[in-house]
Amino acid sequence: MVRSAIRTIDRVTALNLRPHKRRPWGGIAWLLLATGLGGCAVLGGRETTVVAPAAVDWAAVTAPVESAVAHDPAIESRIDRILAGMTLAQKVGQMTQAEIHSITPDEVRRFHIGSVLNGGGGWPGKDKRANAAKWLAMAEQWHAASVGEGGPDAVPILWGTDAVHGHNNAFGATVFPHNIGLGAAGDADLVQRVAQATARAVRATGIGWVFGPTIAVAQDTRWGRTYESFSEDPALVARLGAAHVRGLQGRLGSDDSVLATAKHFIGDGGTALGRDQGVTRATPAELVGLHGAGYRAALQAGAQTVMASFNSWVDAASGIDHGKIHGSRALLTGLLKERLGFDGLVVSDWNGIGQVTGCKATSCAAAINAGIDMVMAPDGWREFIANTMTQVGRGQIPMARIDDAVRRILRVKLRAGLFGKRPGDSRFAGQDAALQARELGREAVRRSLVLLKNQDQVLPLRRDRRVLVVGKGADSMEIQTGGWTLSWQGSGNARSDFPAADTVLDGIVQALGAARVVYRTDASGVDLNAFDAVIAVIGERPYAEGNGDIPAFGTLHHAGRYPEDLALLKAVAGRGKPVVTVLLSGRPVYANDLINLSDAFVAAWLPGTEGGGIADLLFASGAAQPPRDFSGRLSFRWPASPCPTASEEPLFARGDGMGLRETRPLGRLPERAVVGGCGAPTEISIFKVSAQRPYELLVASSTKRWKTRLAETESGSAGVDGAPQPDIRWSTVQINTQADARLVTWMAPVEAPASLLAWAAPTTVLGPYANAALVFDVAVSKAPTSPVRLGMACEEGGCAAALDIAEHLRALPLNVRHTIKVPLRCFAAAGADLQRIAVPFRVDASAPFAAAFARVHIAAGAALQTDALRCDALRP
Ligand code: BGC
Ligand code: BGC
Repeated sequence: MVRSAIRTIDRVTALNLRPHKRRPWGGIAWLLLATGLGGCAVLGGRETTVVAPAAVDWAAVTAPVESAVAHDPAIESRIDRILAGMTLAQKVGQMTQAEIHSITPDEVRRFHIGSVLNGGGGWPGKDKRANAAKWLAMAEQWHAASVGEGGPDAVPILWGTDAVHGHNNAFGATVFPHNIGLGAAGDADLVQRVAQATARAVRATGIGWVFGPTIAVAQDTRWGRTYESFSEDPALVARLGAAHVRGLQGRLGSDDSVLATAKHFIGDGGTALGRDQGVTRATPAELVGLHGAGYRAALQAGAQTVMASFNSWVDAASGIDHGKIHGSRALLTGLLKERLGFDGLVVSDWNGIGQVTGCKATSCAAAINAGIDMVMAPDGWREFIANTMTQVGRGQIPMARIDDAVRRILRVKLRAGLFGKRPGDSRFAGQDAALQARELGREAVRRSLVLLKNQDQVLPLRRDRRVLVVGKGADSMEIQTGGWTLSWQGSGNARSDFPAADTVLDGIVQALGAARVVYRTDASGVDLNAFDAVIAVIGERPYAEGNGDIPAFGTLHHAGRYPEDLALLKAVAGRGKPVVTVLLSGRPVYANDLINLSDAFVAAWLPGTEGGGIADLLFASGAAQPPRDFSGRLSFRWPASPCPTASEEPLFARGDGMGLRETRPLGRLPERAVVGGCGAPTEISIFKVSAQRPYELLVASSTKRWKTRLAETESGSAGVDGAPQPDIRWSTVQINTQADARLVTWMAPVEAPASLLAWAAPTTVLGPYANAALVFDVAVSKAPTSPVRLGMACEEGGCAAALDIAEHLRALPLNVRHTIKVPLRCFAAAGADLQRIAVPFRVDASAPFAAAFARVHIAAGAALQTDALRCDALRP
């Protein structure tokens, strides 16, 4: 009998904490290790019941697919021969994929490794500026190590990379618009040419495999990977996904062919609330028809590899919880391999097997038995190999399954023509010039732009105009390229990291000449009379994967997340000069307020390195330019409210977008604000009677280097061992409900303050939470005479921001409870990076000061409440 699993979504996942941490302890390690405090947050879904789901009748909902790459008997008999001569160690090695920084060529040889990858921001020798020759040299090393002195049947290694919008990890490569922009362009031929150029760039670096295209059909744009999705429309995703596969793979084995990956199988774009790696509820027919549409098309186009998805699947028809896809035999084998007839290889996602019930990232017989052929075990590959060998030995993984996996891997490698060839054998290998396709990039940008408003036909602007360019996005490669660009998150990149690229501003200057363009990040103090028009370039800051999720208490209201963009438009609008707004974003956003302040409004998505394509359409063609027009059309609905529902009328429908000649008076749009977010919960609890997982409550001194975790109910003291008196003393008291507060007495001297702080290893993403504040109750029992700094910080103590609240505390009556609300934006202004907070609450003080603290939390909307403190009233 099949029982449905009871899935407990861990609080941590629910709060959108970063699911993976490479260095979980960071700079605070000393603080914890010294006392053996092992506070490790438990991540991911946990299941209380393990079920073996019944087989699904896929034949009822979908038909087999015929791949453009035919079964070749000659290849099959060669595989038979190679397989017959392989040891178990060689087979398991083939099934293993390691990250380039975690393995050496000698280990590739010793462990018979089948594949390496460079993750987002992985460059050869950790050199961000590595040129094509340096990448190629590394590829040659892996290759030589894999084949050694072996004969023609020695199995060459395959290197995979996330070239998801051009060869985006490689310095100097043209970065194309993210898929959402290509979806707006909607042209399969363009997508194919972009993919071809990407393949050439990837081969220039000696790499043979691309983890793309993403053929997710994103349904909830709160998902941080929305921009990796061509469209919410399965038919468009299928059309463009297939074109992308054709462009990457071309003729397999040729000089500019790389293997493509259809990812992430299946339902990644359908998770509840748009949560990355979440739970997708769908009937088998919906799963296949909506989320599977791209797979049918990509497999038909000949995609040789498929990446399993981090999400889970709950069958909405039967109610059966199939758990994580990485462990689902029904999907990986039943649907993909058996029903759809996929004969290539299935690769797991980054440590993805570790999320399967009962598994670890380094050990998961269930995933291999479910149908994973190659395991992405970036740094745990050694243990993975050892564990898998043991599992085969014990019969937990049948030898037939291992042979099938290796057969698929060899089949793909043989079809790709890897045998008997070196990475340097392509005519593009080592060629920096092959990294670039700037004209094509610029064309793709032009084609992706969607004109949503053009009041009084303010566009196109004449080329003899003088323009004021404003906005944080105007001259920012980081904002226009977005995530998966030189680094995983797309952050940490300077203009100089892009030697061959144009910002939006560069394009405007090229079009009008420097004399006609003035650029300011903000508009304060600028006399608009000197200009004919204002161009405001605003947008989202870069993000990737779950870091881009808009969590339950955030909204799609752009200005709620980026108030500086609204402030900017307010400063320039209504002053007699037309305002042209260009929005750089990875998703459609609720922007009625911004649109109202703009005469023209262009959705430009994440265009990549060729920002010049934007100016190409903002200005009228002169004698020197071909006539041009906006042709991009929305591939996602554009929301009419901050929390749109599926049934709600959008502001702009899919397919909307104007040409320059169209007039469509928009009028004034209603402006809706929401306090709190689109769904519960609306707060993150940090301390409530006890520290709330994953947070730990600690007292510490960074100058004297001691730390102690506050025990749940007791009292205690902490300081340097053997010192005449402690730096801090605490006890448990009541200020709201029983034993809900910690009374902390500071005894530390002014020159070495001590702190009370909350900390968690997974960082908290607070950026998207609209108008949120840090809120806590405090009852002062001894007023401070020196600064009391309320702070937040990132991992390793980075991005620390601290605001002195002593004056405020002194004004409070003693021993009376008071609620303090400090808007998160005050911390951001003081330097905190709200995207990666490790310490969301910290009080630094010295004697004399004593106060009880309770109910420490982050509350959405609280910054709008009248009793919230004002940033300008708080000194750093
Ligand atoms: C992502 C994949 C990516 C892989 C390797 C994962 O976290 O989900 O899309 O291909 O990392 O970087
Ligand atoms: C890597 C990415 C990977 C991610 C998974 C990052 O550190 O650079 O490629 O997708 O981890 O969480």
